[in-house]
Amino acid sequence: MKIESRLAQIGSVAEPVTGAVSYPIYNATAFRHPKLGQSTGFDYSRSKNPTRAVLEEAIADLESGDAGFAFSTGMAALQTIFAMFRQGDHLLVSLDLYGGTYRLIEQIMSRFGVTATYVDTNQLDELERHRTERTRAVLIETPTNPLMMITDLEQVSQWAKAHGLLVIVDNTLLTPFFQRPLEWGADIVVHSATKYLGGHNDVLAGLVVTKGEELSKEMGFLHNSIGAVLGANDSWLLMRGMKTLALRMERHQANATAIAEYLSGHPAVAEVFYPGLPSHPDYAVQCKQSSGNTGIFSFKVKDSRYVEPILRHIRLIAFAESLGGVESLMTYPAVQTHADIPEEIRNRVGVDDRLLRFSVGIEHVDDLLSDLEQAFAAARAEVDKV
Ligand SMILES: *Cc1c(COP(=O)(O)O)cnc(C)c1O
Repeated sequence: MKIESRLAQIGSVAEPVTGAVSYPIYNATAFRHPKLGQSTGFDYSRSKNPTRAVLEEAIADLESGDAGFAFSTGMAALQTIFAMFRQGDHLLVSLDLYGGTYRLIEQIMSRFGVTATYVDTNQLDELERHRTERTRAVLIETPTNPLMMITDLEQVSQWAKAHGLLVIVDNTLLTPFFQRPLEWGADIVVHSATKYLGGHNDVLAGLVVTKGEELSKEMGFLHNSIGAVLGANDSWLLMRGMKTLALRMERHQANATAIAEYLSGHPAVAEVFYPGLPSHPDYAVQCKQSSGNTGIFSFKVKDSRYVEPILRHIRLIAFAESLGGVESLMTYPAVQTHADIPEEIRNRVGVDDRLLRFSVGIEHVDDLLSDLEQAFAAARAEVDKV
């Protein structure tokens, strides 16, 4: 079946007793054993919970993987993946990384002797130059956020296989509706399901999908042993959101494309970063490996003095962190999402004080365009006195 149908039907045929179309929320943490040596398949909800299991099977299927795991947040999912590594292990990591992942590696994994080098993961010679004997994995975000750098997943996976490295892809920005990294050779996919999969800015969750028996067993062991699992109520809420993923992503993409095009021609905008525009340097790679584009893009205004009044004057678009929900949010990465990344690294990748990130929602595009238009006009009136 096509992915739209599989999304809409998540959990709807899984409940055989009553035939409930929406899968029930099993709050039970303990399950009765029929007799000694027998189990219903459920013993204790940290190990396996019926509601969470329906979600986990769904995401494994959507990502073309072998096993799915639901976590309390995206960070909990990443931390559990990192627990595969040990003292002395080294990771190659995308340069323009999510700030929380950078903090987890640099301030927590470093205590356990795990180190990372941040490179443009789309440059094989860069990856090769920084690979050491202790390199175990490549961690990729594609597109990155906020600079929307693209990595060719097939090319890097082939290179990584040749060197015995794991490929881990954070697929938060595109979701399996638009991009399935395991089909290009990656080993593990991770999501902040808080973003597009949940989609409504009302549930925190993380998801992991693994390929292959050995990795799936290892992740199952870590998931249960560490215990940062998703509760039954939140598992249900996440599935409820995922049922409409296809419709939402199509609207996010259409709105973001129209607004990115509009801003590309705006006199106060210096640059727009969006892989859905043919002017993006890796547009061809993006078209090869993804069937569509995210609702997020970034842009640089010509003068950093525009930033404060733009954020003060937007009305429909909220000045807020996070991304991937139905509501449009604009954020200022240099002082918010990326505040934990040192200025030197931020400037090297281009997250400077002129950069704004826009998570385009599913509102009507005309209303979003007129909100931007009035905020830009007000900002230019204040700064340029025109
Ligand atoms: C938000 C985000 C995370 C962290 O997820 P939480 O659910 O907030 O813990 C990880 N990676 C990316 C790309 C994100 O956008």
